[in-house]
Amino acid sequence: MKKEDTHRFETKAIHSGYDPKEHLDSLTPPIYQTSTFTFPSIEQGSKRFAGSEDGYIYSRLTNPTVTVLEERMAQLEEGEAALAFASGMAAVSAVLMNVTKANDHILCSQGVYGCTFGLLQLLKEKYNIDYTLSQLATAEDITSNIRENTTCIYIETPINPTMKLIDLQLVANLAKEKGIKVVVDNTFSTPYLQKPLKLGCDLVVHSATKYIGGHGDVIGGIVVGDLKVISEIKKTTQKDIGGVISPFDAWLLIRGIKTLAVRMERHCETAEVVARQLKNHSKVKKVYYPGHQSQSDHDVMTKQMKKAGGLLSFELSGTYEETIKVVDKLKLIKIAVSLGDAETLIQHPASMTHAVVPEDIRKRMGISNQLLRLSIGLEAWEDIWGDLEQALNAI
Ligand SMILES: *Cc1c(COP(=O)(O)O)cnc(C)c1O
Repeated sequence: MKKEDTHRFETKAIHSGYDPKEHLDSLTPPIYQTSTFTFPSIEQGSKRFAGSEDGYIYSRLTNPTVTVLEERMAQLEEGEAALAFASGMAAVSAVLMNVTKANDHILCSQGVYGCTFGLLQLLKEKYNIDYTLSQLATAEDITSNIRENTTCIYIETPINPTMKLIDLQLVANLAKEKGIKVVVDNTFSTPYLQKPLKLGCDLVVHSATKYIGGHGDVIGGIVVGDLKVISEIKKTTQKDIGGVISPFDAWLLIRGIKTLAVRMERHCETAEVVARQLKNHSKVKKVYYPGHQSQSDHDVMTKQMKKAGGLLSFELSGTYEETIKVVDKLKLIKIAVSLGDAETLIQHPASMTHAVVPEDIRKRMGISNQLLRLSIGLEAWEDIWGDLEQALNAI
């Protein structure tokens, strides 16, 4: 990491990690679309390989456009260093392979991204790395699930799609006593709303595909942590498994990050209005929005999040058929998984993102057949609500 940037978040999102003087005075970071770099001599080439001289070698190892993205994300998450990957899952798998070895145990929040769950299964089958899913709601919940061989606690908060929150500081304090690494998937909150490293967690992962990119046009992943663990991941799982991001995709993410703060403000503001409107509608049974589940949820929210975010779920009081009808009546709001885009998106967890989860477990997780998840976009709130209202009134 270069020297710490003391500017505010909004300013860092635009300037951090980039100095035009180092790039022919180009205002915006150039796309270094090259696979490899030339060495002035064999001697200098060998010094770069030995690490005794700075300089680029090959774009799977480092690329100047990707470096700008990594330094900017490290500054925004207030971590020492970051790495960019070809997808959120490439980032998650690189991290899980770093913090575990064969026969270890992972304690995981109940309700993680479907492919992360798939990866846990794979690690179990191939390397006998066991996992436990837990609510992680209380200190008792956490400590009673920690085993002798637990090396990692893996958390998503807010939890998809019920938007329950986990107290990151509580988990981090209990894990630290036992030398367990805490990994947080911060995709839903972004560093604008929540900074897990400042709360004592060890590593942050992102699907940069979502709010970080923010425009639904790129797949990417990020890992942030301290310099020691980030260099370990760089030299092992990143270099040798090789799921690196392309310079162009890194450039799209750099471009997206510039507006992260203003986008998040608007996503949050509109989500709050839509949540309130949905709550007051007679066809809506329940609204799931971070900080609204219970008093303790609200306390966690005010402690660790700046605002509640741009995602919410709601349950209809009608039947499954009526739920489907509402979605089919929408005109402006598009049916799609993914989130964090300028466009408002809706999806049906029971038949889409959580279809692989058996129905009884789904029920326990609070995912009924009448539950819908919304990713609030950047359109005018009146138009988003207008579309929802006409669809709700049609049943
Ligand atoms: C989308 C997502 C991922 C996976 O990211 P990809 O970029 O699609 O690989 C991981 N975690 C969360 C919370 C996500 O929403």
